[in-house]
Amino acid sequence: MLTAIDENGQVVNLLEIEVKELTGKYFCPSCKSELFIKNGEIKMPHFAHKSLKACDLWLENESEQHLGLKKALYQWFKKTDKVEIEAYIPEFKQRPDLLVNDKIAIEIQCSHLSMKRLKERTENYQVHGFTVLWLMGQDLWLKDQITNLQKNLVYFSENRGFYYWELDFKTQKLRLKTLIHEDLSGKIIYLQEEIPFGQGRLIEQLRLPFLSKKLLTIPLIVDLKLAEFIRRQLYYCSPKWLKLQEKY
Ligand SMILES: [Zn+2]
Repeated sequence: MLTAIDENGQVVNLLEIEVKELTGKYFCPSCKSELFIKNGEIKMPHFAHKSLKACDLWLENESEQHLGLKKALYQWFKKTDKVEIEAYIPEFKQRPDLLVNDKIAIEIQCSHLSMKRLKERTENYQVHGFTVLWLMGQDLWLKDQITNLQKNLVYFSENRGFYYWELDFKTQKLRLKTLIHEDLSGKIIYLQEEIPFGQGRLIEQLRLPFLSKKLLTIPLIVDLKLAEFIRRQLYYCSPKWLKLQEKY
């Protein structure tokens, strides 16, 4: 985590202060336990719990990727908008990675989370009048197939169809995958656009799916081996294809 509460109850943000300026004791805004300052070789300076057992806000220590992405997006937003990092929202005990203009919660998701937790967190934001946007780190990037969790993180707009946001820490890019669909063999097909970190106003870039644009299309190649593929799926009793066969 990049923020903590100091002995006077003030929030300290490691992105705005030099580590050498930190002298007193620092505490977690949720469980109130004392935090370490970690200033290692690999990860950027951050606070860490001595024990996470009593904390319901921080379930695990963060990766270098997560800390780095939070920092990059914080700086990008900060150029043009009001942004808070790890702002603690006491009404529903949540701490979005970034809170933009008081109402837009940005969640940078770098590891798997349960569907139950995703639903809970999303609903909490909505009930309390926040908009939440999930941006995905490397482990959750869309690959050849789509998982149930990813299906729940896909958004829809008239202009871009089903779309999905990814963050690339290595190349420092925000990636928008659009017109996402599954072909008959279960493979995921999409178009993608990349925006280098720092380019333009981030809050505008995140509205990209809603901007009208010349209709996007994906040219599809007719798969001549499709009949053979379906035959094989039925031969091996693939549940998906058996169900379809039954229907027809
Ligand atoms: Zn804590």
